[in-house]
Amino acid sequence: MSEEMRTFGYLCPACGGTVMGIRPVFGLEASGGEVACGCGKSALRIAFDGTRWRLYVPCGLCGETHTALCPPERLLRGDTALACARTKQFCCFIGSEKTVEKQLRDLEILAEKEKRDGEKEFFVDQIIMYEVLSELRDIAARPGGITCACGSSRYGMEIRRSAIDLICRDCGARLRVPAAADRDLDDLCCRMKLVLPGRGTGER
Ligand SMILES: [Zn+2]
Ligand SMILES: [Zn+2]
Ligand SMILES: [Zn+2]
Repeated sequence: MSEEMRTFGYLCPACGGTVMGIRPVFGLEASGGEVACGCGKSALRIAFDGTRWRLYVPCGLCGETHTALCPPERLLRGDTALACARTKQFCCFIGSEKTVEKQLRDLEILAEKEKRDGEKEFFVDQIIMYEVLSELRDIAARPGGITCACGSSRYGMEIRRSAIDLICRDCGARLRVPAAADRDLDDLCCRMKLVLPGRGTGER
């Protein structure tokens, strides 16, 4: 017959913690079950309709709740993993306590890594980038604050990882404003005006 106890594990999308619960199969078949996170904001739900198991899995990778249908032999024997529909990574584990615990640890590391990659966005230093942008806004607000040597005062902006390029809309000249280090901000703060170099040079 089926194993007596099953361990369920997932990653809480609300608090980022791993959640693990051990449930007796008998109770699950009779009335379903729930494995909730200690933070109270997410819970894995398990229900049996007499033929198949239905699981509602809060997904720590994409933040949604996934519904999975599982035949009994898959849910009640061996080790099983359910994949996130979005990221295609496993987000829920069912099996023995030892295996689930290990898989959850790996999942936590994966989620942490993806979160960091996402947050890094694109800037070398996000705070400096925002400061430089706000300083540029101040300069632009001054009369004749940002102009081009060609006589134009129409310009566009391209935001890069470590700099902002100001581009003259008339002649195409570029002025690169570095935005990656404290020094870049200091340099910019002591300038009342910025002048794009005019066509052809591309240097400051
Ligand atoms: Zn939680
Ligand atoms: Zn997901
Ligand atoms: Zn120009």
